[in-house]
Amino acid sequence: MFRFVSELLSDFFDLVYPTICLGCQKTLETTEPLLCVSCRMSLPETQTHRGNDSELINKFAGKVKVEHVAARYRYSKGSVVQKLIHAIKYKDQPEAAIQVGQWFGHTLKAECPWIEDVDVLIGVPLHKKRLRQRGYNQADCIAQGIAEVTQLPVSTSALVRTRFQGSQTRKNRLQRWLNVETVFRVADPKQIIGKHVAIVDDVLTTGATIESCAIELHKAGCRSVSVLTIAATR
Ligand SMILES: [Zn+2]
Repeated sequence: MFRFVSELLSDFFDLVYPTICLGCQKTLETTEPLLCVSCRMSLPETQTHRGNDSELINKFAGKVKVEHVAARYRYSKGSVVQKLIHAIKYKDQPEAAIQVGQWFGHTLKAECPWIEDVDVLIGVPLHKKRLRQRGYNQADCIAQGIAEVTQLPVSTSALVRTRFQGSQTRKNRLQRWLNVETVFRVADPKQIIGKHVAIVDDVLTTGATIESCAIELHKAGCRSVSVLTIAATR
């Protein structure tokens, strides 16, 4: 009986939330999360995972030492990439976030020369109150997806977010920076001391949040910090 009800519910949700491609609205195969294969193949790639990361490294220049930065796709307003990021962040789709992380993991394994030097992946932490609201941390899910392919360890407890913040979308760069300062804390230094940490997030814009994480990781004694994001603005 329970099984029947759950199947009925699942059919109902498929009707209410049809699984259509975020890019072209075509009905998706069950093996295609969020995007059909052809939309996925046409996403705007960056070259940063191939070692050409100077464009993104500059976001951190003069602020904090960052070894490498790799982002998979270019982020722009109204783009399919924006819809993809929005879906994994706000539409209760942790599995999709893991899947997108796996795509990135395959690219990193094949094309990113420095990934083998990384010791541990750390998703930008959410405050526990936000984690309760959302149910999952999309950055941890992306890190998990990358880890499943690269076999790198993930830590979800070394770095924590200590201050709850409201939405950052309406703030300017200075306000954002002031707001993220000292928001993060290394809760378990032994997980990162002497290690090359790759901070993982969904999208890299100003870099202020990741900068704040990197400062705390350096203070706690990590060897170096790199950055992996699914998308990045110029
Ligand atoms: Zn499509």
